[in-house]
Amino acid sequence: MEQVNILIIGAGIIGLAVAKNLSKEFEDVVLVEAEETFGRHTSSRNSEVIHSGIYYPKGSLKARLCVNGNQALYQYAKENNIPFRNCGKLIVANNKDELSILKEIKNNGEKNRVPNLQIINEVECKKLEPQIIAKYALKVPSTGIIDTHKLMQKLENEAEDNGAFIIYNMKVISIDALDEGYIVNFANGEVFETNIIVNCAGLHSDKIAEMVGIKTKRENLQLHWCKGEYYKSSKIKDIDHLIYPLPDPDGIFLGIHLTINLHGEIRFGPNAYYVDKLNYEMNESYKPEFLKAIKNYMKIDEENFHFDDCGIRAKLQEDGGDFRDFYIKEESEKGFPNFINCIGIESPGLTCCLTIAEEVKKLIISE
Ligand SMILES: Cc1cc2nc3c(=O)[nH]c(=O)nc-3n(C[C@H](O)[C@H](O)[C@H](O)COP(=O)(O)OP(=O)(O)OC[C@H]3O[C@@H](n4cnc5c(N)ncnc54)[C@H](O)[C@@H]3O)c2cc1C
Repeated sequence: MEQVNILIIGAGIIGLAVAKNLSKEFEDVVLVEAEETFGRHTSSRNSEVIHSGIYYPKGSLKARLCVNGNQALYQYAKENNIPFRNCGKLIVANNKDELSILKEIKNNGEKNRVPNLQIINEVECKKLEPQIIAKYALKVPSTGIIDTHKLMQKLENEAEDNGAFIIYNMKVISIDALDEGYIVNFANGEVFETNIIVNCAGLHSDKIAEMVGIKTKRENLQLHWCKGEYYKSSKIKDIDHLIYPLPDPDGIFLGIHLTINLHGEIRFGPNAYYVDKLNYEMNESYKPEFLKAIKNYMKIDEENFHFDDCGIRAKLQEDGGDFRDFYIKEESEKGFPNFINCIGIESPGLTCCLTIAEEVKKLIISE
């Protein structure tokens, strides 16, 4: 049996950032991943946006970790030559009612200390984005985009340079709590004993918590999977900002928006609908919903509108339920000391990867 000090489960962006951070401070850090390489799930299936932190309730982890994570991620990308662009975003509104919602979003962002927010008028919008239909827009300069694959690659390299071991094809199938520490069993028959576990298993993080004995239903920690699909259009070009409509009033998602990638290519999405199965098939029946949403802020040619890709959100918020924050906690209170859960790390999880890793480190040091 292998003996390790810290075992991190899941090599998505969160597990990689945690591994990079903890391996700087601690010996014997091991990151295990069920798939053959890192980032095969949500971390490679998202909008690659560095969010500003404008939408989340003041005082929430999402607000704090996103506003700080935004700055931390730009800094890290600059220092490590990871491609990014601080392009900014526009949230558009087309009547007085929508304008008042835009003002509420601005106020919320200011409470969260998102810098330099500004409401602009139709003429100013047209100057910035001639193809966009908008009477008003909220300009959010701190939003940007990043090459997520290169970011994950860098985090993996740094973790390994610090001495961490990253092992692929290692699917955790059960965990036994000892008086001190944990025994972790893998599908390939390997068995590890560890002092500390950090659960970064994304869509399966609730199942990992259950393996140790946490009653996720009773604790309200069951995940609800929510799919988001993207379409691309090769005809639309020369857009400089990310363009967002007003967010979904139920808080499930940010509305079908336009993102650009680092090559200037355009994508629309994601939409949002809850699913039971983990598959990445696209459902064509949502196409009209996309076109309708996009036509509110730009002309779209249906003939050049094609499926692109999709991802699945690991949400604690159930269909029709209220806002739920990230759950990042050391579980001594539940009887599982040195077991740290990261559950419900949906958007803006990519933006928060470095600040979530700091949060996890603080939980370990304070024990
Ligand atoms: C459609 C969509 C758009 C998004 N857009 C943005 C955005 O623009 N900006 C932003 O900040 N955030 C965005 N997000 C959120 C962001 O992508 C996630 O918060 C982030 O990728 C979560 O990373 P993770 O490491 O927790 O999960 P994952 O990337 O899913 O990684 C978890 C890993 O755990 C592994 N695992 C699971 N079970 C086991 C097991 N039993 N044993 C071993 N390994 C296991 C999995 O194989 C997986 O590799 C978006 C999400 C979606 C779905």
